Amino acid sequence: MRKQIVAGNWKMNKTLTEAQSLTSEIANMVADEAPDNVQVIIAPPYPFIYAVQNLIPEMGQILLSGQNCHSEDSGAFTGEVSASMLKSLGAQYVILGHSERREQFKETDQELAKKVDAALKNDLKVIFCCGEPLEVREANEQNKYVTQQLTNSLFHLSEEAFKNIVIAYEPIWAIGTGKTASSAQAQEMHETIREHLASKFGKLAEETSILYGGSCKPDNAKELFSQKDVDGGLIGGASLKSRDFTDIIKSF
Ligand code: PGA
Repeated sequence: MRKQIVAGNWKMNKTLTEAQSLTSEIANMVADEAPDNVQVIIAPPYPFIYAVQNLIPEMGQILLSGQNCHSEDSGAFTGEVSASMLKSLGAQYVILGHSERREQFKETDQELAKKVDAALKNDLKVIFCCGEPLEVREANEQNKYVTQQLTNSLFHLSEEAFKNIVIAYEPIWAIGTGKTASSAQAQEMHETIREHLASKFGKLAEETSILYGGSCKPDNAKELFSQKDVDGGLIGGASLKSRDFTDIIKSF
């Protein structure tokens, strides 16, 4: 049985008080309405993680994630945050390889492999993002593109280490655009990803949660989550509204 996960990626949004309010609302709604078997994760901006952590009930249905981390544990890296810092703030996950990091901050597969190692070394689980740009989809080369991203950043891991990886498939053309992949497109890619992971990690691929991300909203989440290989979602815009985020969590 794979873990069903809904993760909210707040990106660079909210002030401290807004982040606190949003967290309290989500905590209340999740306690009252969310199915027990869904793991909820929120990824606030770094400066809010500690404050937000104090507003989350300890029973563990909601866990905290960073949105990125550096590949080194400490040192002269002005403006950066390490995996060990995230861990010390109470985070249990970190999102790595988001397309915005890859595009705007030029993060490469090789650099991401090092970040994955740093996260795992510090006992963080990783939500590893992959996904193709529009021109790759139009050339029908998305399977090759995405499987290569996974090979380059994850295939050096041992089976034991790989158990701590969650995959998020996020077609770049669907992020923040209101254009969702169809449930058939999502299922097809998730199946491809699972087969690819199985070629390296065998049966573990069946236990790996693969999330869909890209304009996932309350009105399309049910259809997406009902696909055989879609184990939840990585939610951007809709995670900034407690009602929408909770409705997505309730879509399983
Ligand atoms: P979106 O973002 O839901 O706003 O499309 C998803 C993501 O970037 O993780």
